[in-house]
Amino acid sequence: MRVILLGPPGAGKGTQAKTMSESLGIVHISSGDLLRDNQERNTELGNTARSYMQQGLLVPDDLIIGMIEERIGRADASGGYVLDGFPRTVEQAQALAAALERRGESIDRVVNIRVSEEELVARLGGRWICRACQRPYHELNSPPENEGECDDCDGELYQREDDASEAVSRRIRVFAEQTAPLIDYYSGASGFVDVDGEGTIDEVRESLLRAVS
Ligand code: AMP
Repeated sequence: MRVILLGPPGAGKGTQAKTMSESLGIVHISSGDLLRDNQERNTELGNTARSYMQQGLLVPDDLIIGMIEERIGRADASGGYVLDGFPRTVEQAQALAAALERRGESIDRVVNIRVSEEELVARLGGRWICRACQRPYHELNSPPENEGECDDCDGELYQREDDASEAVSRRIRVFAEQTAPLIDYYSGASGFVDVDGEGTIDEVRESLLRAVS
C-alpha cells in the first residue's frame, strides 16, 4: 500500500501518518523530518534547506525530489509507505509519478485532510515536538504527561522555529498558493479521498483508516 497524505501545515499529517503507518505495517516517510535530520547532521542538503525552512518557504523541488526518490528506493519502503509532506507542488507530483513508473509502481490512495485556516493558526501556535521520536504534542489539545518530556521515549520537547507566528502565516499562504493546486491535480484520479480533519485525533484516525481500507 502506497499512500500520499495531503493537507495544510497543522492538519495533523505527522500524527496521523505515524499511526496509519503502524496500523498498516508500512513505513512513514516525512519530507520535513528527513530535512530536519539532514540539518542536524549538517549535510549540504540540510544546510541549503535551513534558510527556506526557517522562513516557511518551500525548499527547491530538485533537492526534495532527489531526497524522496532515494528514500522510496530503500529496502524498508518496498512493502509500501505513507508519504507525509511530499509532494507539495505539482512539479513534485509529476516527478513522483515518473519515478514510480520507472519502478513499475503506483500510488494506491491520495488522502486530503481538510482543516480551516483559523484552526490551523491555533494548532501550530501551541505545538511541541519530541526531538528524539518526532511525536507532536499540543499545549491545549494533547499535552504530554510531564511538561517538556515525551510520553513515548522521554525525549526532550521543543518548538519548531517555523511554528513562530510570522512563519506560520507564510506557510499557510505557501500552502494555498503552491500545494493546494495538487488537490485538483489528484482529485480526478482513482484512489483520491477527502477527509474532515477537524475532529479529535481519534476521529480523524478512524476516518483515515476507513479511507485507506
Ligand atoms: P513539514 O515538517 O512537513 O511541515 O515541513 C517543514 C518545512 O520543510 C516546510 O515548511 C518546507 O520548508 C520544507 N519542506 C518539507 N517538505 C517539503 C516539500 N515536499 N517541498 C518543499 N519543501 C518542503
